[in-house]
Amino acid sequence: MIDACELTPSYVRAIAPYQPGKPTSELAREMGMEESGIVKLASNENPLGVSRAVRQAIEAQLRDVARYPDGSGFELKQALARHYAVQTDQIVLGNGSNDVLELVARVFLAPGTSSVFSQHAFAVYPLAIQAVGATLIQVPAKNHGHDLAAMAQAVREDTRVLWIANPNNPTGTFCDAQALLALLERVPPRVIVVLDEAYNEYLPDALREDTTRWLVRFPNLVITRTFSKAYGLAGLRVGFALAHPDVADLMNRLRQPFNVGSLGQAAAVAALQDEAFVRESRAVNDAGLRLLSEGFRRLGLEFIPSFGNFVSVRVGQGAAVYQRLLRQGVIVRPVVAYGMPEFLRVSVGVHGENERLLAALQAALHA
Ligand SMILES: *Cc1c(COP(=O)(O)O)cnc(C)c1O
Repeated sequence: MIDACELTPSYVRAIAPYQPGKPTSELAREMGMEESGIVKLASNENPLGVSRAVRQAIEAQLRDVARYPDGSGFELKQALARHYAVQTDQIVLGNGSNDVLELVARVFLAPGTSSVFSQHAFAVYPLAIQAVGATLIQVPAKNHGHDLAAMAQAVREDTRVLWIANPNNPTGTFCDAQALLALLERVPPRVIVVLDEAYNEYLPDALREDTTRWLVRFPNLVITRTFSKAYGLAGLRVGFALAHPDVADLMNRLRQPFNVGSLGQAAAVAALQDEAFVRESRAVNDAGLRLLSEGFRRLGLEFIPSFGNFVSVRVGQGAAVYQRLLRQGVIVRPVVAYGMPEFLRVSVGVHGENERLLAALQAALHA
């Protein structure tokens, strides 16, 4: 019998696997509950599901599902280029934006290089860095958010990638355009700056900066976006990066040729056009965030004001409260792995789901 661990580089052995939100079907199995009675507020999915236009696009595409997808993603790239006023050679499509984040790491990092990210930042960054044997440089957070000045300061000679989630998951914190530009001006051009804007569509208009305009000035900037959140396509896995054509070219060389399926491509084209659905998603999210915030205040719980479709709330014993919520059929997300054991992250649901969460939380706290 071989020891598989011995065969792998030490940096692979050191990786702690990503812990996704518990699927509804799993809790139903474990607790003998009906799936329909379970409320899942654990993975920042769109509680409205998908729009009618997207459903129709998927159904139409089903006809050709025996065929391989368009490996170049022609139509989706055309639609994205129009929507973001970029050239198609600046786009890298991904199997979710997770995929393009990994491509950045695989293209620019290797043993002997280092990469800068923030404490409490999205867990995929350290995973992607470790997977290629680069050195992790974690910068302490400031008020739970990214300390951009300290992150710029942390850049070393061997640093090749710096990651920013804006808004950040799981803290919901936000960096304004001025602070981001100051960082971009300060970081040397040999450092790729990843600006992960997975929750951009949820920002109020006044804060939603058109960061794609910055690509001209900063060829080291990589902007990543996803169809998993406000567009409601988490199950189809579609994301993308916008970057300088040379950067995009390198990423596309490592990209699997068919990394985005045909249903995902068709759905994403339709979703991009359905602006009314995104507006509605934002309105539902705003109302839900208000309801949850008021509810947490009523329960005397501290929370981190959020700019995303989720909010992290301080409940004390995160693990215990999580379990008590599960027993009531409510799934949220523990954030121990993010160094926040006293918090739980709650995705914003539709009105009834938010009410269920608050009632279950009240019961869990007084159990
Ligand atoms: C959800 C999320 C993503 C998107 O993941 P997909 O792979 O596109 O589903 C990316 N970054 C952050 C910070 C997220 O929270």
